[in-house]
Amino acid sequence: MKVYHAFPGGRAKALTMSYDDGKLADVRLLEIFNRYGIKGTFNLNYGLMDMDIRLKPEQIRELYQGHEIATHTMTHPTIARCPLVQAAREILEDREGLEQITGGLVRGHVYPNGSYNEEIKDLFRKLGIAYARVVEGTEDFELPEDPMEWHPTCHHDHPRLLEMAQWFADFPKKQYLKLMYVW
Ligand SMILES: [Zn+2]
Repeated sequence: MKVYHAFPGGRAKALTMSYDDGKLADVRLLEIFNRYGIKGTFNLNYGLMDMDIRLKPEQIRELYQGHEIATHTMTHPTIARCPLVQAAREILEDREGLEQITGGLVRGHVYPNGSYNEEIKDLFRKLGIAYARVVEGTEDFELPEDPMEWHPTCHHDHPRLLEMAQWFADFPKKQYLKLMYVW
């Protein structure tokens, strides 16, 4: 018997989307996602949920049901400029708060302001983060060599977004795993 890694349902390709900050606009975005069966990851700052434009802790669990919640630090600092001990606190406190809200494990991360370096990647890995998204797109559909520096396919306002999506949808081969990853 051959054993292969696959996406859920045994599929060889998947689309996922990733949105940051947990703002009120996510309510409408989730309606669209849920209507079309699109899965996303929402990267939240537990320490900023009292801001007017942010969703509140009591809304999170139900609203994001069926999607992934990931860390985005407590207070959205530019982490490559922070002392390491502060970066550690930012990630641990955010994770703890989000796990309390969701009742599940939170292992993903998106670097706020796209800021990271080798020390930060290493620190976050040691603190239990399984993967971390960056902002520079690859315009392809490969899985990352380094999950702590996971480059997406592209931003949703990329001028060739629909062209790339069509190519991806039409791609027939199943030998390799392909991921379209839009933020
Ligand atoms: Zn952000």
